[in-house]
Amino acid sequence: MQCPFCGYGDSKVIDSRDVDDGIRRRRQCLSCDVRFTTYERLQPANLFVIKKDQRREEFNKEKLLAGIRKACEKRPLAEGAVEALADDIESELIQMGKAEIPSSVIGDMVMRHLKKLDYIAYIRFASVYRDFTDITDLKQEVDTLLSHQSPPDGQLTLPINS
Ligand SMILES: [Zn+2]
Repeated sequence: MQCPFCGYGDSKVIDSRDVDDGIRRRRQCLSCDVRFTTYERLQPANLFVIKKDQRREEFNKEKLLAGIRKACEKRPLAEGAVEALADDIESELIQMGKAEIPSSVIGDMVMRHLKKLDYIAYIRFASVYRDFTDITDLKQEVDTLLSHQSPPDGQLTLPINS
C-alpha cells in the first residue's frame, strides 16, 4: 500500500477491524511515519453469461430469481425455497470458477434443481426455456418424468392418466 503523503511503497498495519462490508485498516508509512486508513471490501467476481445469440451479459441473480419465481408461482413451496434455490445455483456457478458461462448451462442447472423441488414448476420452466413448440414435446417431457422418476419427497404424483 503506497503512502498517500510521500508515495513510499510500504506501510505497516497498526490496527484492523471489521466494518459493515469489509475491513478497515490503520496503516503507518514505513518512511514518513504518517498514519492513514484503508478499506478492503470483498469484490464479487464478475460472472458473464453467454446468451444463445453469443451476446455477453453480466450474471444477474435477480433475473435468475425472477425466472424461478415465475415457474414456482402459486406452488405450495416452503417459505424461502425459491430464494434458497437461487442461492444454490449462484454458488454452484461461482464454484465452477469460470468467467463466462453459457446460458444453456444455467438453464440446465435450474431445470435439474426444479426437478428435485417441484414437477409443475419444472415443467413450467422447461416449457419456456426449452421453448416447447407443440404439445407433443411437452407430453414427452412429462412422460419421461412419469416413467423414470419417483416424485420428490412430499410431492403427489401428477394426475395424468395415459
Ligand atoms: Zn509516507
